[in-house]
Amino acid sequence: MNIHRTNSGSVIETDVCVTGGGPAGATIARRLALLGHRVCLVEKARYPRPKVGESLTPNILPLLETLGLRDRIEGDSFLRPDKSIVHWSGAREQLNYQTDQRGLLVDRGRFDYLLLESAREAGVTVLQPAQAMRPILDEDDCWHLPIRYGVESIEIKARYLAEATGRHSLLGGKRTRCSAPLIALYGYWRNTNFDTSAIRVEAGLEEWFWGAPLPDGSFNATVFTDPDGCRGMAGRVQGLDSLYLSLLAGSSLLRGGLTGTLAGRVKACDASSYFDDNSINEHSIKVGESSFSIDPLSSQGVQAAINSALQGSIAVHTILTRAENSAAAIDFYGARQREAVELHRNLSAQYYAESRFRDAGAFWQKRSDVVSKSFPVESETSPILFDHLRLNLSDSARFVATPCVTGNVITNIPALTHPNLERRVAYLKNIEALLLFDSFPQGGTVADIVRAWSRYFPRNDSLETLDWLCRSGILVPAH
Ligand SMILES: Cc1cc2nc3c(=O)[nH]c(=O)nc-3n(C[C@H](O)[C@H](O)[C@H](O)COP(=O)(O)OP(=O)(O)OC[C@H]3O[C@@H](n4cnc5c(N)ncnc54)[C@H](O)[C@@H]3O)c2cc1C
Repeated sequence: MNIHRTNSGSVIETDVCVTGGGPAGATIARRLALLGHRVCLVEKARYPRPKVGESLTPNILPLLETLGLRDRIEGDSFLRPDKSIVHWSGAREQLNYQTDQRGLLVDRGRFDYLLLESAREAGVTVLQPAQAMRPILDEDDCWHLPIRYGVESIEIKARYLAEATGRHSLLGGKRTRCSAPLIALYGYWRNTNFDTSAIRVEAGLEEWFWGAPLPDGSFNATVFTDPDGCRGMAGRVQGLDSLYLSLLAGSSLLRGGLTGTLAGRVKACDASSYFDDNSINEHSIKVGESSFSIDPLSSQGVQAAINSALQGSIAVHTILTRAENSAAAIDFYGARQREAVELHRNLSAQYYAESRFRDAGAFWQKRSDVVSKSFPVESETSPILFDHLRLNLSDSARFVATPCVTGNVITNIPALTHPNLERRVAYLKNIEALLLFDSFPQGGTVADIVRAWSRYFPRNDSLETLDWLCRSGILVPAH
């Protein structure tokens, strides 16, 4: 990292500037530094800072493992909830025990601090508290970012910009809503008489409730509702606190336990989901909630932000080190973001559709339309495999150049497409699909194919692969 002092302030020259040090910013900064790039990250808040979004599902654990941080996070003093009390679809509430892996209930101030520290340890220069202002790309494709750093005025010059500023974008661009607007009203309670190991989730008539204990002994009770409904109620109740308390009074799971006191003010924030369809180009990338935001109902926002930053780090590394693969990197990242948006939009719509108030009002109906088509995954006439069965590659199967991760970069690899496949398939059991079909004896028997593939797979792996290809309709019986 080069730092020059000039009459008008300091100039930092770096390869990548990351704006925002939440989970997405810390992740992409750490990964790019470990891949050998000079990275400077700018975070406007002093850490630890308060942040809502404390429930992490067990699916976050493999991502933390990829980051090399799983032991550190699991070893910290976060809670591991072992049950949830849910009053959602049925007439009665249900008590669900976590039988396999448990998720985490974290203090986001501490969790985000640990992630940012790990970026620092990987060699990232962190400016904090420092606010990035609107960046400018000059004619030589160099970014200039004015930074407010205490009384100092700093300029960062960077070859590449990674925006991770969450819901507040510096780069601008068009964001499209993925669902009806949603607002969250939340407060932290002390001295409640709730069981400290359970998460509580409940569907209300025009809202849903979420509550959970936190590592510092407080309890977060949140109401998610329609901002229009809130505006309507605001005429009847005075102030945010009263609005929050009157909504909470409608929750059978939360109102009873909230015998304690509210610590601090009630807060309100936008919780609507959106996506930015232009989240990457040759000069900049948007990661985490700068790229898309999902409905909080799934408690997977942090995980989605880390995942997008992991994928983003490979795309940026490819753009910076293999310019000839930039188009593939841009396609790859854009496609993964769109897939994630679609997946979470459908998941949320399904959860909303399962609510016991599904037919009772607009709040539920406008959130429960499943938007994307579903694909037939298996062929209805899947043949039973026996050694003499002869198989052909279906006429509808094709190989198409597709951007895939190979090591730490993205390259175009021929991948299998078929109308029954939701996604293109470049590898089958870690072997390039094209290699397998190059040696595929068209019209050959199962025994011939197993023999031809024996240089790649043991027999059982060949049979499993053949079985999947037949059930997907990619291989069909030869007549
Ligand atoms: C009410 C609510 C409840 C939620 N509950 C959950 C949950 O239970 N589980 C879950 O997984 N997710 C939850 N989420 C979502 C989760 O909080 C987000 O998905 C996650 O924080 C996104 O991470 P990020 O790094 O993209 O952005 P953020 O965490 O928002 O980080 C962005 C960072 O950028 C900094 N920044 C912004 N502008 C600038 C600037 N100009 N210069 C420098 N720094 C800047 C900010 O200070 C901030 O630290 C919830 C969200 C809401 C609204």
